[in-house]
Amino acid sequence: MAGPAGIKARSSGFADMFDRSTAGGLTPLDVVIEKVLSPVRAVIEGRETLMFGTNSYLGLNFEPSCIEAATIALADFGTGSTASRVASGNQRLHVELERAVADLYGRRDAIVFSTGFMANVGTIGGLVREGDAAILDAHCHASIFDACKLSGARTLTFRHNDAVDLARVIEASGIAPSRILVIVEGLYSVLGDIADLVSVSAVTQASGALLLVDEAHALGLFGRSGRGVAEAQGVEDKVDVIVGTFSKSVGVVGGYCVTADPAYRALRFAARAYLYTASLPPPVVAAASRALHLIRTDDGPRRTVAANAEALHRGLTALGLPPLAPPGPVGAVRMPGIKAGLDMWRSLLAAGVYVNMLIPPATPNGEVVLRYSVSAAHRPEDIDAALAIVSAVGLRTGVIRPAA
Ligand code: PMP
Repeated sequence: MAGPAGIKARSSGFADMFDRSTAGGLTPLDVVIEKVLSPVRAVIEGRETLMFGTNSYLGLNFEPSCIEAATIALADFGTGSTASRVASGNQRLHVELERAVADLYGRRDAIVFSTGFMANVGTIGGLVREGDAAILDAHCHASIFDACKLSGARTLTFRHNDAVDLARVIEASGIAPSRILVIVEGLYSVLGDIADLVSVSAVTQASGALLLVDEAHALGLFGRSGRGVAEAQGVEDKVDVIVGTFSKSVGVVGGYCVTADPAYRALRFAARAYLYTASLPPPVVAAASRALHLIRTDDGPRRTVAANAEALHRGLTALGLPPLAPPGPVGAVRMPGIKAGLDMWRSLLAAGVYVNMLIPPATPNGEVVLRYSVSAAHRPEDIDAALAIVSAVGLRTGVIRPAA
């Protein structure tokens, strides 16, 4: 279906929720952040608001040394690269950032893309094509689904975090395992649960399929060096390709891919989303390099995130709103429906707490959830204040039932 009707159909549930006239009030797309005061505080509708939905897990978007690195790069290299890497967009700072990513992962090479979305499009498009198969966890991010579609490979899904089902889908595909790419995430971005990479990698190793892990939400948060869930679970040697993003814990924008095998060097030249788009602006690149250095050398902030995540999870559970996954940097609380969810979300915002309101197709299993992300920049009193507001608003909107 072409034209406006087709656009409306493709936007499915979003169109209704985000259409102010039908939703009857503020929707997530209407929120304008008037001023950003810190990684976890902003001014919205004239009110100082506690931010629990930014993905600034480590607070590095306001880290003074990252800002200083960006400022120096701005003066020395200007505001933008104005070209792709193969044209004149390959500056010293880009090469240094790729070195920093490769060093973080202990690999020989890394490729930096202009967003995490493009890292998936470029990497997956470089690895598989027509005649191959991409087999994804059913909860994978939209960028992974789109990347697979664009690649031309046959796209199949397996049940979320179910290695037995993965083995079944590989077998049933009828495609030679050497032509199969399996894709999972380290930390799943909506519900906040963690992949079972030990079981998944055992299946890919046994079958001979390639394994790609998107560590977008796990970089800087899991593993001794902050490399992600594959590091934390001790299976990095069984993962062929890692993709990630600089837009969350790193505090800027951009994506990357690292591979274990030098044979994948050619990926740089196969990835159209790398070749045919402008490279990242120099201040962004300089801030990313500095942030990666901090992630490698200081694990204090990741321990603070873990403590904050525990406290918030405990508090929500005590209020009768148990998050859908164990404590972690991302959490999601189920809402009884879109209307109740929007009501709760709007009331929280009016009371000074920002979280993410998510509905299908952005959520798995048709869930309507309020999603939150925790930051090292949250102080214990921010968590307490947020919980007090959730309690009051939840009781008022009926999302929390009063104790009998
Ligand atoms: N992969 C995953 C798992 C994500 O959650 C996201 C964004 N939320 C991306 C990739 C895309 O990253 P970016 O926003 O940096 O383009």
